[in-house]
Amino acid sequence: MRSHAMLSHGDARSVAASLLDMFREYAEVRTDGETHIVRLRYGQAILKVESDRICVTAEAEDAIRLSYVKMAVAEHWAAQPLSAGRSMAWDGAPHIDRKPAFFQTIEVVSSRLVTPHMKRVTFRGEAFETYVAGGLHVRLLFAQKGRDAVWPSVGADGRIIWPGGEDALSARVYTIRRPDLARGEIEIDFVLHEPCGLPAPGAAFGRDAFPGDVVGIFAPGGNEIPDARSVLLLGDETALPAMARIVEQLPEHSRARVFAEIDSAADHYDFPSAANVDLTYLYRDKRGAGTTMQLSAALAQYLSSHQGAAPFIWAGCERDEFLAIRRLAREDLKLPREMHSVTAYWRKR
Ligand SMILES: Cc1cc2nc3c(=O)[nH]c(=O)nc-3n(C[C@H](O)[C@H](O)[C@H](O)COP(=O)(O)OP(=O)(O)OC[C@H]3O[C@@H](n4cnc5c(N)ncnc54)[C@H](O)[C@@H]3O)c2cc1C
Repeated sequence: MRSHAMLSHGDARSVAASLLDMFREYAEVRTDGETHIVRLRYGQAILKVESDRICVTAEAEDAIRLSYVKMAVAEHWAAQPLSAGRSMAWDGAPHIDRKPAFFQTIEVVSSRLVTPHMKRVTFRGEAFETYVAGGLHVRLLFAQKGRDAVWPSVGADGRIIWPGGEDALSARVYTIRRPDLARGEIEIDFVLHEPCGLPAPGAAFGRDAFPGDVVGIFAPGGNEIPDARSVLLLGDETALPAMARIVEQLPEHSRARVFAEIDSAADHYDFPSAANVDLTYLYRDKRGAGTTMQLSAALAQYLSSHQGAAPFIWAGCERDEFLAIRRLAREDLKLPREMHSVTAYWRKR
């Protein structure tokens, strides 16, 4: 599918250079004369620079992915200083009020505790196939407690228009633990983390989830399963669903070394897999989540005793741990980008 937009500017070349710099942060950009092709996760944007305008073509294989590409271009156009508030519009653009192609509402079917600190919630919705092909994660949107939800819409430029004030939504990233395409359902595991005096809408939703409750969902949300036969996974409770998805999809004869930080043995989690999985739990024993630095210590110790080629290193955890693990992977081990994926899943405050 395709969509076109014209970005008019007296200094089109400088504007294009600024846009491409933004894209280069996370995407591959190929240039042929005045034509630039930006390869994004869900499709591509082609920018053709003329004297006083940039002709943009967004391309993707379906409407959901096309919307993501359009939104990426529009966000960068709005953010770069040279365009200074100028509007843009895609051809055949929807009018305000249209729901984003990557949005839907999903409804709680059931919920149950899988550990004392983890609630598994089953949701019913539509077209989950696209989500499953598009990565492990989704972004859930929670309305404020006790209010009827006002959901986001999309503007003519492809950017999201968020409800404000008392209708403001909270967005949190979660992992699809198990998709059941035949039933049109997905399962998401919510960590019921300790109260900290802040609202914590994600954990609150998981704790109180009741059949018929509705949340908004932006998906797919990216982050693919690593394509490697030897992986080292490190994560706290929030990453247990993602680590379980990864080991579940590993083929026979592949290897996974897993370090999982949890509070106590009561929080053991299921890791079904055909692969050779070597799992070590690191217990916090009532110390605060995100304070013990056990995951980075486990990685340092593993690396000091490991011989041979390094495995693919994957981690999801609190931000301080994330920084320590990323430093080990990038600076000490000098792993190339394609051999590690280390993400901050949350930040303690
Ligand atoms: C790619 C990705 C995938 C994720 N998948 C999952 C998943 O499948 N399941 C899941 O439960 N979470 C998952 N998370 C983490 C989740 O998004 C965060 O924990 C989120 O902050 C929870 O939102 P909240 O509204 O409960 O708390 P927030 O409003 O974000 O935070 C409020 C306070 O709660 C504290 N807090 C937040 N999270 C935690 C925690 N985990 N432990 C202890 N204290 C905490 C913070 O210190 C903060 O002060 C994922 C995150 C990412 C980036």
